[in-house]
Amino acid sequence: MIYKRSSALFAEAEKVIPGGVNSPVRAFKGVGGTPIFVKEAKGAYLFDEDGNRLIDYINSWGPMILGHAFGPVVDAVVDKAKKGTSFGMPTEIETKIAELAVSMVPNIDKIRFVNSGTEACMSAIRLARGFTGKDKIIKFAGCYHGHSDSFLIQAGSGASTFGTPNSPGVTQGTAKDTLLANYNDIDNVKALIESNKNEIACIIIEPVAGNMGCIPPRQNFLESLRALCDEHNILLVFDEVMTGFRLAKGGAQELYGIDADIVCFGKVIGGGLPVGAFAARNEIMDYLAPVGPVYQAGTLSGNPLAMAAGLAMLNALDNDAEVFDRLAQKTAYLHKGISKALQENAVKNTINRVGSMISVHFDENPVFDFHTAAKGNNDTFKSFFHGMLNEGVYIAPSAFETWFITDALSYEDLDFTINAVNEVAKRL
Ligand code: PMP
Repeated sequence: MIYKRSSALFAEAEKVIPGGVNSPVRAFKGVGGTPIFVKEAKGAYLFDEDGNRLIDYINSWGPMILGHAFGPVVDAVVDKAKKGTSFGMPTEIETKIAELAVSMVPNIDKIRFVNSGTEACMSAIRLARGFTGKDKIIKFAGCYHGHSDSFLIQAGSGASTFGTPNSPGVTQGTAKDTLLANYNDIDNVKALIESNKNEIACIIIEPVAGNMGCIPPRQNFLESLRALCDEHNILLVFDEVMTGFRLAKGGAQELYGIDADIVCFGKVIGGGLPVGAFAARNEIMDYLAPVGPVYQAGTLSGNPLAMAAGLAMLNALDNDAEVFDRLAQKTAYLHKGISKALQENAVKNTINRVGSMISVHFDENPVFDFHTAAKGNNDTFKSFFHGMLNEGVYIAPSAFETWFITDALSYEDLDFTINAVNEVAKRL
């Protein structure tokens, strides 16, 4: 494939935007080469500035669960835009999407909308701290909860790709209140609780991790976390920015039958517009301003375009009884095909999958935490990434990311992808 125009556009971008991108994971740092510039997208496909068609397995890092330029979302946004793009005043549609979200997700009474997953997680832990009167939080190595200071401690996603787990600019004061545990290691969590008795406000976790590849929770891990939280008066925060409205209508809470105390959302909930949200039962949510003492705000929060896109997206998911099964079946089909292609070409691999999240790790051993995810062969990943790109398949330019499956993918697209894996695997 030719990427002449993308390369030229990137060179221009680098002059005026740090690293040429507005979010580091887009920069191809982990795999080398220059990023692809998108011109437009429809359904399962991206069309780049050089006229290449790529099957998209990133899908804006999750939101485009029903495909790009999904009709009902586009129509809702266009209609709304004609009536004004922001008021900073209440609008009816905010209540409509809140009602729908509360009806779809278990165990939440109220929800507040913000502008990104970062804001959702940042606000959720402030609320947890305010509500419990305690300062410390436990997070898991390799989990990413956005780029607010408290979370940039062994974070996954781009923070792992770039090898800067502790970003300069995050103060020691902040870092000392973030305790780190190993994903899927309940004894580790117990030990941290023991040595920080009555100091921990919350445990925040991606219930299925998606920022060190896709890592499922081990059997009983989430249950044990729930029990520990109950025992020690700690709030359990599920970061469902990736899993929410993707693994099931009610996200990972529904899939695993575990109630979290606070749930964070992003990605799908905004239908591709900048939206995040956090939600909990009344008792906790009423601790927020203007009712309660914990402050949280946003000029553009609940923005009409974002709410219109989100409402259209959630309605589409709510009204399609089969969609989550269909997504899981497509992902299982892909899993089987990729696994066979890699096996036949003697490429060592482990594939993890939950619902429509899947990741390919170039290591034959089980991948269940950050440490095991980091063992994957990065040189093989780089060759795999560029090989797939050359075949017309776009996966995340980092080994520490999940692939996001969209319902817009046809079985022909999946076969095309599996054939591409087979071709690339011959050369790995
Ligand atoms: N939490 C999780 C689990 C995420 O995957 C992300 C983003 N990839 C975030 C939080 C942050 O969301 P945003 O990029 O919208 O700020």
